[in-house]
Amino acid sequence: MSEDRKAQLARALERVEARVRGACESAGRARAEVRLLAVTKTFPASDAALLTDLGLTDLAENRDQEASVKVAEVGRLRPDAAVRWHMVGRLQRNKARSVVRWADEVQSVDSIRLATALDNAVLAEGRPKLDVLVQASLDDDPARGGCPLAELDELAAHIARAGGLRLRGVMAVAPLGADPGPAFERLARAAGRLRRDHPGATELSAGMSGDLEQAIRHGSTCVRVGTALLGGRGLASLGSGSPGRAP
Ligand SMILES: *Cc1c(COP(=O)(O)O)cnc(C)c1O
Repeated sequence: MSEDRKAQLARALERVEARVRGACESAGRARAEVRLLAVTKTFPASDAALLTDLGLTDLAENRDQEASVKVAEVGRLRPDAAVRWHMVGRLQRNKARSVVRWADEVQSVDSIRLATALDNAVLAEGRPKLDVLVQASLDDDPARGGCPLAELDELAAHIARAGGLRLRGVMAVAPLGADPGPAFERLARAAGRLRRDHPGATELSAGMSGDLEQAIRHGSTCVRVGTALLGGRGLASLGSGSPGRAP
């Protein structure tokens, strides 16, 4: 059973890897410039453990409650795997303390208030600095999260001054139902500006199962892939991402 699942995940990983490699080649970029982040939300810890067996150690979740349980479980299943856990979902300030206990990086920081809550939580937990990306809004829809591009510089400057946070770059989700190309182009310009002010902010997290090629063409350094690796999330995914086909 688990051997079947492992073979299934291995085939899906091969296909995703081929897409990433192809996109890098077309863009004249080195494969090493793009990290592959496996988004394991709604899938069991056993799947995350199998992905680490296949060599994927950058894993992501979008809900604190689900993630804190899963991260502990993966730690029990694969005590020797050096997993780096990423938070990529909308986050309420009252979850900051919990998130900094399991996340190595939070990609969804979209307000000064949230940044301050995370900074305080890092100091309260006495943990190493937390890597953060600012999440930019590409559709100005507040319900989907993200900081308006016009306010990105101010948010970044605030994070750069926070003792518990390390500003690593920018993340965004493409607008729904529109060609992601122009949105990724605006994002790349914003990321370039940010990098001029903050040389350590080199990450551009963009691209998911459906649009990773366009994102890589526009400079993504981190694609976040769920469906294409793990399969469709079905009803559990309503409101939290795009459902898709099984691999
Ligand atoms: C779910 C999710 C992804 C992965 O989406 P897929 O389309 O399944 O690849 C990427 N980024 C964020 C922020 C997500 O919530």
